[in-house]
Amino acid sequence: MPGCPVRLAESPVTRDDACQAFQPYKPVKYVIYSHSHVDHFGGVKGVISLEDVRDGKVGILAPQGFMEAAVAENIMAGTVMTRRVMFMYGTELPASPTGHVGAGLGLRTSSGTSGLIPPTDVITEDGDRRTLDGLTFIFLLAPDTEAPAEMHWYIPELKALTAAENCGHTLHNLYTLRGAKTRDPLKWARALDATAERFGA
Ligand SMILES: [Zn+2]
Repeated sequence: MPGCPVRLAESPVTRDDACQAFQPYKPVKYVIYSHSHVDHFGGVKGVISLEDVRDGKVGILAPQGFMEAAVAENIMAGTVMTRRVMFMYGTELPASPTGHVGAGLGLRTSSGTSGLIPPTDVITEDGDRRTLDGLTFIFLLAPDTEAPAEMHWYIPELKALTAAENCGHTLHNLYTLRGAKTRDPLKWARALDATAERFGA
């Protein structure tokens, strides 16, 4: 389920909902964490179970440095940042025309239980390839861009590119009010250039 942001185990986007997009029903074999922000891994237990990962039924891929970055932001700085998030995103406001209508980057994230299952396969080199369920995935690392650990990938059979949250529908923050690490716009731009050069032809 590459690129699908699921923040919480109770999110409406759960395993069954997510798989409705893949009719007829197919089991989830792999999860790819595109980057170390909680809204892109926090709901993993709503999609797969820890037991299935331990039993080798499901693999989880992540960019180099993922666990360090995820722990640094969400545990070490978690309490402080959670307080600031309340002000940055107005999380305590009721959803209504006069309350909460959006979070700038899009709709606000849901509230509930976040979790994390460590990756089983870490991408460490640009150009690393994996064959996942019959498709070729070519990875390009994009560290210190929109997140400290982030990566893009290309599936040649489908001519499909994922650029994580480095290239989305909205303009993402270089400096967040919640206090996440300030992003380096030059590294961000270079990662997009490298992606266009490598996969754009
Ligand atoms: Zn992000």
